[in-house]
Parts: sequence; C-alpha cells; structure tokens
Amino acid sequence: MPKAFTLDDIKPWAEEYKNNPSFVYVANKFNVDRYTVRKCFKKYKDELGINIVKDTKEITIEDIKAWAEKYKEVLSFRAVARDFNVNLNTVINNLHLHKEEFGLIFKEELDAKDRTMEEISKWADEYKITQSLAKVVKKFNVPHCAVNRLLHEHKDELGIVFITEERERLALEGKKKCNGECGQIKSLEEFGYLGEGQYRSTCKVCQRKYENELRAKNKRPLTEEEKRHNREVRSARKAKMTPEELRIRQEKRTAAQRKRRASYIGVEENFTVEDKNLIFEVFGGKCFKCKKDHGLSVDHHKPLNAGFALNIENAVILCIGCNSSKHDKMPEEFYTDKELSEINELFKKAKLLKEQKQNVN
Ligand SMILES: [Zn+2]
Ligand SMILES: [Zn+2]
Repeated sequence: MPKAFTLDDIKPWAEEYKNNPSFVYVANKFNVDRYTVRKCFKKYKDELGINIVKDTKEITIEDIKAWAEKYKEVLSFRAVARDFNVNLNTVINNLHLHKEEFGLIFKEELDAKDRTMEEISKWADEYKITQSLAKVVKKFNVPHCAVNRLLHEHKDELGIVFITEERERLALEGKKKCNGECGQIKSLEEFGYLGEGQYRSTCKVCQRKYENELRAKNKRPLTEEEKRHNREVRSARKAKMTPEELRIRQEKRTAAQRKRRASYIGVEENFTVEDKNLIFEVFGGKCFKCKKDHGLSVDHHKPLNAGFALNIENAVILCIGCNSSKHDKMPEEFYTDKELSEINELFKKAKLLKEQKQNVN
C-alpha cells in the first residue's frame, strides 16, 4: 500500500517544483516516484497554486540541441529526461520534431538496421503463434522497437495479421475475441458493456467464472454488524418503492430464479418479463386447465427436467393447483388431444404477437 501524503507533506515538493517544474526532478529529490508526485499535485493543485498540466519551463532551441547531443551519446530518451530534469514526453516530442535539424538517428532505427529477412521471418512465425510482440522480444532477445517496426514494415510479405487489425475487423462485424479462458470470437452482446462504447475484454461466461472463483477464494462470513447494516439498507430501499415498482422487482427476481434453475441443469433459458406478459395476454389471464384467474404461474409445457427451456412456444399459464398436478409430466400425459391442439394454436398466436411487437420496436 503506498503511503498517503498529506498537503503538509507535499508543500516542500511544490516549492521545488515552482523553481524546477519537472516531476522527475521532484521525485528524485524527495525519493518518491514521479507518478506519486503528479497524483499528489493533481489532488492539491489549487491549494499549492501550481500548474501541472504541462511542463511550464520554457524550452528553447538551445535546450533541445543539448538534449540531442546527449541523446546521440546515450540513445535513451529516459536518460535525457532524467539528466535535464524534463518531462519524458517533452523530450520525445521535441527530439522527433527536430530530428533532421540535429541529425538524429533514433535507437529504434539503429536496432532495426541490418536485420536479414531470414531473421525477421523467424520473428513473424513466432508472432503468428503467440500474437504477442513481447513474446517475440523475449524469445529472440531483440529490441522491442526493432521487432515492432520491421514486422509492421514487412507484414504483407510475411502474411502477418496484427491482433489490433483483427480486432478492428471483428468490431466492424459486431464481434470481439474473448481474452479469457475460452478465447472464442463472440458477438458483442456476449460481453459486459462498460459504457461509452466500451466492452469488457472477457466474455460474460468467462467473466462470471472468474468472479465466482475470486469470490470463493475470498470467502469470509459477514459479521453481525454487516448483516444488520445490509438488512437496514435493503428495507430502507424497499420502503421507498411504490407497489408497482415492487411488483416489477418481484417479476424480475422470479425470471432470474427461473433462469438460474435452468442453468443448473445446463439449459440456456431467456424468458423475459415481456415474454411472460405476452403469454398472460395470449392465455387470457387465466389457468388454461381449470380457468381460475388467480394464483397463476408460468409452466414449462415440455418439462425443464427433460431439457426444455421456457420460451413463448413452451409456456402455459396454470394455477398453482394445476401446475403442481402437472409437475414434470410430458404434455401428452396431462392434457387431452383437444387441449393440446388448443395450446399449439395459442403458441402460434404468441409467436406471431412477439414478432409483431419486435417489428414495431
Ligand atoms: Zn470467454
Ligand atoms: Zn388450474
């Protein structure tokens, strides 16, 4: 756990920073890392009266010339930034900008120079297997920027498809490759949505599995205090809800329970609250068998235990009594032939109605 710095702790940092506006400089001087410096400055920038958006130091062409000379010696942007107490990005950007002027050759170019096609195609083969530049770098012990530059340069002749390009191609088809255990290409709906057009990198199935494992690993019983708190929060929330909201909540819970029960026996079920309302409408809001109009529920026409999912062509409205006497029986064991054909008609009607509603939306 990093130490949390108070405003008093970082006041001396800010004084130094005002004379020499470089996070690297301050970080070195106070023996902290520069990200911590930036984070603390960001938090207290108003109190400290500092501007941290950019390096405020005015950079002259003489400065850049000096950096360029140093760069030629050490071939490291990082070392230049450290030696001159400037922001790393400032160094990189300015040296690239004045490359010609100061006759710079960057390390990545030197690293990439004089590589034979034979060597490069070995990297390519490795990349095709692992889809990871880092693994190529490690295996052949070559500089990352050389690998990156040369594989991109020769990608067509080497027949490489970079993972980023594949990602773009899949995105156009509304698909994505799961980064998790399954590694499959799935449609975007199979990934949790994070907002602003972003999806999780692992699919819902892998994500759920991962979370369950994590939960099992960190399992700890709740204390009495926590249980009491949770109870209070729940009942306060419930007290604020209108009867309509409570009804909807209950319906959603029932639907989720049903889905869970189905998934225990390996049946993928997706019967929504809208589906349920539609089935109630089609069956005229009463028990199909005895026509009672209260204590109703949705019954799996062909039973779940035989592997049939609930959907609008397998859902019948029954009262509790009829539902429990049907239980796990196959339809033919419970209904008469006439009833069966009536039910089939109602299923057709439900299907049609659902299609119509979908077309409206
Ligand atoms: Zn997955
Ligand atoms: Zn009934």
